[in-house]
Amino acid sequence: MTLKTLTAAIVLSLLPAIPMAIEIEKLQLPEMGDSAGALISPLEEKEFGASFFRMLHSQAEISQDLEIQQYIQSIGRQLATNSDTPSSPFHFFVVMDPNINAFAGPGGYIGINSGLILLTEAESELASVMAHEIGHVTQRHLYRQIEAASKMSIPTVAATLAAILIGTQSPAMGQAALMAVQAGSIQFQINFTRDNEKEADRVGMQTLVNSSFDPRSMPTFFERLQQSTRYYGRGVPEFLRTHPVSENRIADTRGRAENYPYRQYPDSMGYLLTKAKLFALTTPNQETAIKHFTSLEKQGTTEQRAIARYGMGLVYLQNLQYPAAAEIFKALSEQFPNQPQYIAALARTAVENKDYDKAHQLFAKATQNFPNNDAIKIEYARSLLKSGKPVDARQILLGLSDAQKDQPFYFLLLAQIQAELTQPAESHRYMAEYYYSSGQTEDAIVQIRLAKQEKNINYQLQAILEERLNFFINEEKERKEK
Ligand SMILES: [Zn+2]
Repeated sequence: MTLKTLTAAIVLSLLPAIPMAIEIEKLQLPEMGDSAGALISPLEEKEFGASFFRMLHSQAEISQDLEIQQYIQSIGRQLATNSDTPSSPFHFFVVMDPNINAFAGPGGYIGINSGLILLTEAESELASVMAHEIGHVTQRHLYRQIEAASKMSIPTVAATLAAILIGTQSPAMGQAALMAVQAGSIQFQINFTRDNEKEADRVGMQTLVNSSFDPRSMPTFFERLQQSTRYYGRGVPEFLRTHPVSENRIADTRGRAENYPYRQYPDSMGYLLTKAKLFALTTPNQETAIKHFTSLEKQGTTEQRAIARYGMGLVYLQNLQYPAAAEIFKALSEQFPNQPQYIAALARTAVENKDYDKAHQLFAKATQNFPNNDAIKIEYARSLLKSGKPVDARQILLGLSDAQKDQPFYFLLLAQIQAELTQPAESHRYMAEYYYSSGQTEDAIVQIRLAKQEKNINYQLQAILEERLNFFINEEKERKEK
């Protein structure tokens, strides 16, 4: 199958059924060597990516945990700056989903499932998957598949793509998207062709090496993925559906990795802490979780054993055992005062235990010690709000970096603060932004209309509400038309 016919097959699955023959005629597909950049302008790509990410929120649980976000973004940044297009935008995020999957969407949005992170046994393994996904982005593989689907509106393509890439069919998914997915899923299994996979492996490994990660971890993780299929009764992990790993690919990457001299690659603290947190958050059985961390506590360096205790503390916290959790986190934050996660966990325990004075004392100290740490600020603001201090909470939010100010959790927190301050119109306005950023535009429209019904709205807010309402309605209309 040539690239042309393959692309046509995928495109067709995204197009309405009837004008098929005509559509094929119209397709102007690029040759393999072409720069696909001309197909979509940088601005369109940005819009497409943002739309895709919003839709994804309505179909999957994107982690809103800033500690987890900060880690995945830092490793992503390290890889992206060493990729072959370091200046192109990338956005890395974690999907809270036990299925083993990772994917690259439009606009450089790269998602990694919690299940995949937990399957890795070394940070370089996680980096190798991310480098592979970065390779799909820099080689513009996705655009070669979907460029001709541009006859559909951006929100529709974005929603469809989101559904296909996360591989689930949630009820929140639109009917049109659902049908497209059902029709398209078979084609999508072959959408990343063998050539695409090999290319992503090749450029991915170069990125991996340039970023000081272990090239051998790529074949090692592919092998583990392949073996893992035997243990999964439900079938093949999503990642393997969209990125089939063959013996041949493993041998290829193994051969290439062997060209580099062998050395040790220690895992970063961020990787180990993130894995511990994800394990604690996603393991429902307390006994299983404690057993896991107890065995980890007996091995490794002082830092690694401390991380095992941190994991154990998080399990206690999850199970409302506050004194046990506090004891662990207090000891850890004294032993490792430079590790923000430990003091944050101690403060979080105080919040859960409704000991707000203690919590705020700890948060104040932590924000002083780690002035650029947004994760701590967000937890601090939430705690202030819970304890009836919305003005202080809003003050803390002002100190966040701009990167956080378009995230759903940020708008939700602002809406809650405005409600506490008895500013219902402002509260509805931010709820609207919360829904919109989560891919729920219809609910955003409802919120704007509620805001407009409030009394004593000043001229400025009136204008904002009007502008946002029109914007949301237009977008929703575009999505429904196709
Ligand atoms: Zn792939």
